[in-house]
Amino acid sequence: MASGPAERISRVPPYLFAEIDRKREEALARGVEVIDLGIGDPDQPTPAVVVEALAREARNPAWHRYPSYAGDLLFREAAAEWLARRFGVELDPRREVMALIGSKEGLAHLVWAYTDPGDPVIVPDPGYPVYRMQALLAGGEPFLWRLEPERGFLPSLEAIPEEVARRARVMFLNFPHNPTAAVADLSFFEEVVAFCRKHEILLCHDAAYTEITFDGFVAPSVLQVPGAREVSVEFHSLSKPFNMTGWRIGFAAGNARALEALGVVKTNTDSGQFTAIQRAAVVALRETPAEFFSRMRSLYRRRRDLVVSALRRMGIEVPPPRGTFYVWAPVPRGYTSASFAAALLERAGVIVAPGSGYGPGGEGYFRLSLTVPDERLEEAMERLGSLTWDLST
Ligand code: PLP
Repeated sequence: MASGPAERISRVPPYLFAEIDRKREEALARGVEVIDLGIGDPDQPTPAVVVEALAREARNPAWHRYPSYAGDLLFREAAAEWLARRFGVELDPRREVMALIGSKEGLAHLVWAYTDPGDPVIVPDPGYPVYRMQALLAGGEPFLWRLEPERGFLPSLEAIPEEVARRARVMFLNFPHNPTAAVADLSFFEEVVAFCRKHEILLCHDAAYTEITFDGFVAPSVLQVPGAREVSVEFHSLSKPFNMTGWRIGFAAGNARALEALGVVKTNTDSGQFTAIQRAAVVALRETPAEFFSRMRSLYRRRRDLVVSALRRMGIEVPPPRGTFYVWAPVPRGYTSASFAAALLERAGVIVAPGSGYGPGGEGYFRLSLTVPDERLEEAMERLGSLTWDLST
């Protein structure tokens, strides 16, 4: 028999969605028509100009060879131009922008570039699981930085113990936030950047949802804070804003030294993204009409309002989120995140994500995703509504 896997594999806690996956299979076997509001994956297509660009670029034999490690320079230039247009930040595309095979890849590899065994890694709780799980895999000690419901799910810097601040080399942040849908303004980023400068911590801001905001809120970049690039790297993704989750393309921008370290991990791990995809992403960044983004925002806003009002009718009050395509809501009394998610699947055939899957700070909540067609979402909310009497018992 082959030997077992490395000890680090056992450091990763059991997959919390496994139980949901099992129940989903059971429901499907019973013939239940399951509606999946668990996954955040846009249902709308990639802009047509981008698809056409890929078809064209795929025919170029030059791209059939290995791509450049740091990314195609044209892609990095287009990313830098986009950051300048959108946030007013000027970066050197050669030193301060790096192509990623989706932002998840960059976030994961950054942890390896900045974590030695035993190092604290500051991660939001609840939060996108990749930061915490990669910290565990790398032998680090995640410090779960609690997002505080009473502060609109912003964390407070005072909650970071002096000892953690002194020893940590890296902090993760993500606004607009998955899973709570919370947003942060520039003044919050200013405080965090000042903290990271003081304690010499690399701030990694996961900016996956900056383009999906509502009600007049415009999400800032941490790189807008003066001096931020001395201590920050921001991770951008084409996945959510351009409906390109399957394409696997994103970029890291900011501190050149951190990108160099990330490059060491990457060059020894992956060999970059297909250049044809990078060239199509150039078209996405440069040529996607503004109307596309406003259409996507109004689509998600409409769905958000539908879900928020349906929840209200069920006796679950949530303020309408101003960012992301998620709604984060408290579970009714008597349920845990997992038992409520299981009950919804069993009784209504609706999958939601249990909050505890995003860290202990998510216990007592569930997340609904707005990335299913309107009529499916309406149907899901009708099914949940018909359970109201049951939920409060
Ligand atoms: N960061 C957050 C907060 C996410 O929710 C996701 C995807 O769900 C990602 C990063 C990964 O995105 P990408 O498709 O760019 O790897």
